[in-house]
Amino acid sequence: MSPLNNDSGNFQAPPAAWWTPLPDNKVSCQLCPLQCTLKINQHGPCETRFNSEGQMKPLHYGQIVAAATDPIEKKPLYHFHPGSFITSVAAPGCNLHCRFCQNHNISQGKNAGRNTESVSVQDVIDVAFQDNSVGIAFTYSEPLVWFEFVRDCAAEAKQKGLKTVLVTNGFLNPEPLAEILPFIDAANIDLKAMDNDFYRKICKAELQPVLKAIRQFHDAGVHLELTNLLIPGHNDSPEEIDKLVDFIADLNPQIPLHFSAYHPAWKMQAPATPVSTMKRVREQAAVKLPWVYLGNVPGETGRDTLCPQCNLTAILRTGFKAKVNLAAEAHCPGCGFNFPIVS
Ligand code: SF4
Repeated sequence: MSPLNNDSGNFQAPPAAWWTPLPDNKVSCQLCPLQCTLKINQHGPCETRFNSEGQMKPLHYGQIVAAATDPIEKKPLYHFHPGSFITSVAAPGCNLHCRFCQNHNISQGKNAGRNTESVSVQDVIDVAFQDNSVGIAFTYSEPLVWFEFVRDCAAEAKQKGLKTVLVTNGFLNPEPLAEILPFIDAANIDLKAMDNDFYRKICKAELQPVLKAIRQFHDAGVHLELTNLLIPGHNDSPEEIDKLVDFIADLNPQIPLHFSAYHPAWKMQAPATPVSTMKRVREQAAVKLPWVYLGNVPGETGRDTLCPQCNLTAILRTGFKAKVNLAAEAHCPGCGFNFPIVS
């Protein structure tokens, strides 16, 4: 991609959204369900908010820690403009602290904020157009707690005809989410487990707000796909998979579900997910869900989109490359079946 190196970020960040002042110069954050109270000079555990003299400051407005133009399949989004490329950006920080985080070097701790580059909203939009991207994805770390920049950039990008994508943990309060969703076209949300103990012990978060946010994305008409990282012995039991599948089937069975294989990272060093587990959960989920995909699996198992009527391969995926064989408006060229794909 073209580098985001304009270094034009000498602008003032807007005021932080979603906080209230408290006595003794403390501040209360209402952005995510952790609802932190921060003393003066204290950072939130997300490392994206800071109490400066009794005022909440958003950290990292216009500060990019990672940027690339990726195939949209890498997000992963399989049913949203398949085969396209998307400009992808991230700031440091995350409000979850998953022990298995693959991107902990940019999402966790104070050091994650080093080596950022200053950019404006317009810089990001310019790069998306230069790179012929379908739009902009806010990804790699947690975009919802990079709230002010994502909101401003997504609003402007959408107005200029670009698509906007969030790759997120979905751990945000409903009110800020309602503010940002009108500017979002598509999202991949990590649904890490259906067990609150998993969220508490492994991610330092809670399950119910994530389920609520998933419903809110869906009801707002955002194109939605879900990812479940399978960790042997933690969230891969048949009972757990049943709960996951039932939740999605109740909400909307057309939502694509991506099972992703875990690999040891950061604080979790248990062995990687066996391919046999991936195949077993896919088979189990496919009883109720028509669009179940496998990711992070050696070989090409479970990536393609097949026509459920005539079995034609409508999208052939090799790595992150997608060869799209769809007729107009996402119809099957073999039998005319209409895929629930935005193209
Ligand atoms: S966004 Fe950060 S500071 Fe605000 S409640 Fe969540 S973790 Fe705490």
